[in-house]
Amino acid sequence: MATQIQINQTILELTQGDITQEETDAIVNAANSSLLGGGGVDGAIHRAAGSQLLAETSQLGGCKTGDAKLTKGYRLKAKYVIHGVGPIYRAKDPHVSKMLASVYQRSLEIATAHQLVSIAFPAISTGIYGYPMQEAAEISLKTVISFLENNTQLKLVRFVLFTDDALRVFEEKLSRLI
Ligand code: ADP
Repeated sequence: MATQIQINQTILELTQGDITQEETDAIVNAANSSLLGGGGVDGAIHRAAGSQLLAETSQLGGCKTGDAKLTKGYRLKAKYVIHGVGPIYRAKDPHVSKMLASVYQRSLEIATAHQLVSIAFPAISTGIYGYPMQEAAEISLKTVISFLENNTQLKLVRFVLFTDDALRVFEEKLSRLI
């Protein structure tokens, strides 16, 4: 069961699942700054998209933490992948929360610049990069909500959380933010 709220013309949805199966215009990858693939969701996206994805990302010269770059989706159902580079978590460091917010902001800006109308995000930085799910959920949701309060082109922003626990944390946070 997905949770949905509406912000201006956009549906913000929380669901549990595997982001590689999404049919949104773009899916966001929790990439590392090399953009050369890795473990977790990054590995799953590269496997599902096929080797042409690595051929394209290897031409991009990497990506800075807090920024994102767009490629085609190749064998994915999604037309595009937006490779966002989240921060490695460090407790009590305000820079990491800024960088996490920035990846969501940049991904949404890139989607808008390419006239996309739907985008799916994983919980960036909450796996190998160690960001606590509670803190990440708050920053991620706040950033997306404030973007959607000012930008109305997107019709759907979906968080695809890998586990039921992650979904519950996001649902709980969302209910406190609206
Ligand atoms: P990071 O290095 O940014 O922490 P990870 O890929 O290790 O990236 O983890 C980010 C989040 O993505 C974690 O919450 C993890 O459970 C989740 N995840 C892993 N595989 C998938 C998938 N196929 N679909 C959606 N989320 C996934």
